[in-house]
Amino acid sequence: MKFGGTSVGKPERMFEVAKLITKETESKIIVLSALSGTTNALTEISGNLAKGERLTAKHQIDTLERYYQSFIRQLLKTDESFNAAKEILAEHFEFLNIILKISFSEALNKDILAQGELLSTKIFCIYLNEKNIKNVLLPALDFMTIDSSGEPQVGSIKVKLSQILKKHKDNTVFVTQGYICRNSKGEVDNLKRGGSDYSASLIAGAIGASVCEIWTDIDGMHNNDPRIVKNTRPVSRLSFDEAAELAYFGAKILHPASIWPAQYFNFPVRLLNTMQPDAPGTLIESEAGSEGVKAIAAKDFITAIKIKSSRMLLAYGFLRKVFEVFEKYQTPIDMVTTSEVAVSLTIDNDNYLRDIIKELELFGTVEVDTDQTIVSIVGNKITKTKDVIAKIFTTLSGIPVRMVSYGGSQHNISILISRENKEKTLQLLNKGLFDMKD
Ligand code: ADP
Ligand code: ASP
Ligand code: MG
Repeated sequence: MKFGGTSVGKPERMFEVAKLITKETESKIIVLSALSGTTNALTEISGNLAKGERLTAKHQIDTLERYYQSFIRQLLKTDESFNAAKEILAEHFEFLNIILKISFSEALNKDILAQGELLSTKIFCIYLNEKNIKNVLLPALDFMTIDSSGEPQVGSIKVKLSQILKKHKDNTVFVTQGYICRNSKGEVDNLKRGGSDYSASLIAGAIGASVCEIWTDIDGMHNNDPRIVKNTRPVSRLSFDEAAELAYFGAKILHPASIWPAQYFNFPVRLLNTMQPDAPGTLIESEAGSEGVKAIAAKDFITAIKIKSSRMLLAYGFLRKVFEVFEKYQTPIDMVTTSEVAVSLTIDNDNYLRDIIKELELFGTVEVDTDQTIVSIVGNKITKTKDVIAKIFTTLSGIPVRMVSYGGSQHNISILISRENKEKTLQLLNKGLFDMKD
């Protein structure tokens, strides 16, 4: 059971979480994120330290500390647990105050970012103890590891976790940190923003869990981005492939990598709402359920690159050479479209854009469009349902579409538009594909 930042972000929410985890007697591992807003605050503190702005960082650390002091005061009722929590705060805020005095490094940045999950889990365990709910805290830094390419070490996580769990055979409630891990150098690292979902599914796979529940502040995966479109509704079932596409193409409710462990180890994932625990939410499993369009997601900060060359005409090996440039700079490609004399593709990581362009210019003329958005229409067998593509284009007749990806898989149609048209595009598609009102 994974609970996100908003699910633990207020004392009364922790009360709800405690209720949810004791509802059934089965053994469970509770994966917690940092309290909402904490990782953002820590990112800012770290950013200020990197810029040498220690005074601002100090103010931010003090504000955060005051917030946590008031949080534990509201959460805990007995002196014993309040004092225990005060000690935890002292330990972590002392660390943050010490780093103000030492020189900044990337390793230190990761240490700072880890404080949120370390705090939330320790405070939550004190709270469970106060409520006489027997529990064991499993430090994620003892088992969650990534290799030198940043990939989780699935085999080792499984072995380490089962060794730890063997020591606590009588216990049924375990608590651990999402997001944080150790890297190949043994340093504290993380699974990138939103990574607690990924921690939960890796853990579920490692222990052979019967289900991975992701508890958040909304009743499941919605058919469109609820932050942008007014009338959205939860999707009751998704296949692993559909959910992975939606997560990768911008549905913030799930970390982009959190579905592959479920697919690999074959356990279902449920998206559930802490504030509305009886809502059915979304079930994600191997079977897709009904056919047709299920949801739309959008991914921003996309760069489109077009390489135009008459040398492509009737030539073979051209695409390989183009792709090799992206491989050299470890830059993944999302969308590709080709004509006989040009190829257009998109990337979301433009760290090496200048080098990439320089090398591509050896093959032909290169055009770059930044600030693009990929809108993905996802569902079951949608490329076989003949009216979907017609509906998309009729609906979007007034919006300039830069690229279309159709037929790459049966469950995704992606279009590339300029970011400034994103809101309008999502709203129009909500009406055109789901018949939903504005
Ligand atoms: P948590 O802190 O629990 O991990 P997140 O903020 O990471 O929660 O994810 C939940 C949020 O994702 C929702 O509040 C919603 O605004 C956003 N979201 C974006 N796209 C979707 C979607 N298609 N369905 C549901 N939620 C979405
Ligand atoms: N606390 C981390 C973040 O805000 C991880 C997570 O919430 O999943 O990104
Ligand atoms: Mg999240």
